[in-house]
Amino acid sequence: MLKGIATSSGVAIGKVFKLQQPVVEIKEKEVNVDEEVKVFSDALAKTVSDIEKIKERASTNLKEEELAVFDAHLMMAQDPEYNDQIINMIKDGNSAEKATKAVSDQMVTMFESLEDAYFKERAADIKDVSFRLLCNILGLTIPDLTAIDEEVVIVAEEMTPSDTAQLNKKYALGFVTEIGGKTSHAAIMAVSLGIPAVVGCTGVLAACKSGDTIILDAKQGEVIINPNEEEIKEYTARREAFLEEKQALQALLNEKSISLDGHQVELVANIGNPKDMDNVIANGAEGVGLFRSEFLYMDKTDAFPTEDEQFEAYKEVLERAEGKRIVVRTLDIGGDKKLPYFTFDPEMNPFLGYRAIRLCLDRKDIFRTQVRALLRASAYGKLAIMFPMIATVNEFVEAKGVVLEEKENLLKEGQKVSDDIEIGMMVEIPASAVLADEFAKYADFFSIGTNDLIQYSMAADRMSEKVAYLYQPLNPAILRLVKMTIDGAHSQGKWCGMCGEMGGDPNAAPVLLGLGLDEFSMSASKILPTRKIIRSLNKKDMEDLANKAIKCHTEQEVLELVQKVLHN
Ligand code: PEP
Ligand code: MG
Repeated sequence: MLKGIATSSGVAIGKVFKLQQPVVEIKEKEVNVDEEVKVFSDALAKTVSDIEKIKERASTNLKEEELAVFDAHLMMAQDPEYNDQIINMIKDGNSAEKATKAVSDQMVTMFESLEDAYFKERAADIKDVSFRLLCNILGLTIPDLTAIDEEVVIVAEEMTPSDTAQLNKKYALGFVTEIGGKTSHAAIMAVSLGIPAVVGCTGVLAACKSGDTIILDAKQGEVIINPNEEEIKEYTARREAFLEEKQALQALLNEKSISLDGHQVELVANIGNPKDMDNVIANGAEGVGLFRSEFLYMDKTDAFPTEDEQFEAYKEVLERAEGKRIVVRTLDIGGDKKLPYFTFDPEMNPFLGYRAIRLCLDRKDIFRTQVRALLRASAYGKLAIMFPMIATVNEFVEAKGVVLEEKENLLKEGQKVSDDIEIGMMVEIPASAVLADEFAKYADFFSIGTNDLIQYSMAADRMSEKVAYLYQPLNPAILRLVKMTIDGAHSQGKWCGMCGEMGGDPNAAPVLLGLGLDEFSMSASKILPTRKIIRSLNKKDMEDLANKAIKCHTEQEVLELVQKVLHN
């Protein structure tokens, strides 16, 4: 058995289809500049038309939001700066392939050096486009995945977004790749297509040949090549159980998130851009608990998004929510999130530095643009605004003051602004959790950002693998901070949500229900499984469980208590 990274859920059993990509070799050669420029231009035109064709074929398989990756590829292929750089290198006497490779590699290295998953994905896009361009320059054929006409499991070095998009769900039972991470585009698309996938499975290519039988369990990250009968039996049973479970969850799509003894909570989604609303709706979310607005800023390459651009994005989300609450978090940039068009001064500890609300209160010009866009959009739905990384009451009061000032300005300008906008804050710094009862006199609501709250409480950088063992959402110390925050909100009649990863963690759900959390915000695909858990629990019993949990000594003890409840 080989182990890889589990990306989704589901089990696939089938025949191996090895996806062998052509090998691009760049050889030194004599160059005729005019001819090389023509070779490049022809290859570029073919690349653009190939991508358009793939997009068209993929449109039967994929949703609008996933097709956007091809628009990004088309933009990339037609980017004047990219093309000019290549042509200039050709004019300096380099072959079309050498120039294309050099310019593309340089861009890939630049994006990969940025410590951010989003930019690493941009690097993957450039690789995808430039590989196609190089193959077209050299006359190499890229295998046509749309030609597969029998049920197979694809085994590849890497699945690019265009490979994934070409998969026909009828025949592609799943895929396994040597490289790729949990947040790679390929993994995200596999989840969205509902195809089981295991990525980062080192050694899989060498271990199998086309036609072998292969099993993959996308939840456990397990891959078995040429399984014996017993294994086939076991994994077939796992596969059936998964499909039944998935079917059963659909029945909860329009049900309430309510405990056995009638305590109702809100299960809402985390999103990064308006297109994510498809998934929010498809998974029966009761609204959006965290719109990470920084993705609108990170999507831009040359300048901050304008007030109008932001207004359109917020308006689209609010309209699509049909009256359900959308909590937009104001710009949370800095730490691991950088912008290509904004220079941060170097700091020893960027996570403890100039970021989020600290930056926004310092650069009110940037902040006001966003606040105005939000306020204008508020006329189109139920908007709530929250500020990230609030450490002091003064910061909250100052940030809220900007919102009130801009509201006044807009009203004077004759613009419509809703009268009913809640203004809240993220609780992700231990100081604000400890002082929650005081903050609750000012804020309309809290949303606990456990990703940061845990890293700051445990003094363990969330980007460091070596200290990842200290990411302990169920550590009693964290649970006590969560309890203080919820109790603080309730003491002033305010509501408290949670939008860090802990909010969608099945092991945390019983304790959070018991502690009285009002709103759980998570990735949309976790909504239905969490709803099932909430509907199986008794709130009163979970209060007892939570009381025991906060008195435990270790996370392990809490996990043991929770496991007993979940497996009852
Ligand atoms: C958090 O810190 O828990 C959170 C939701 O914000 P982010 O992960 O974007 O920092
Ligand atoms: Mg955070």
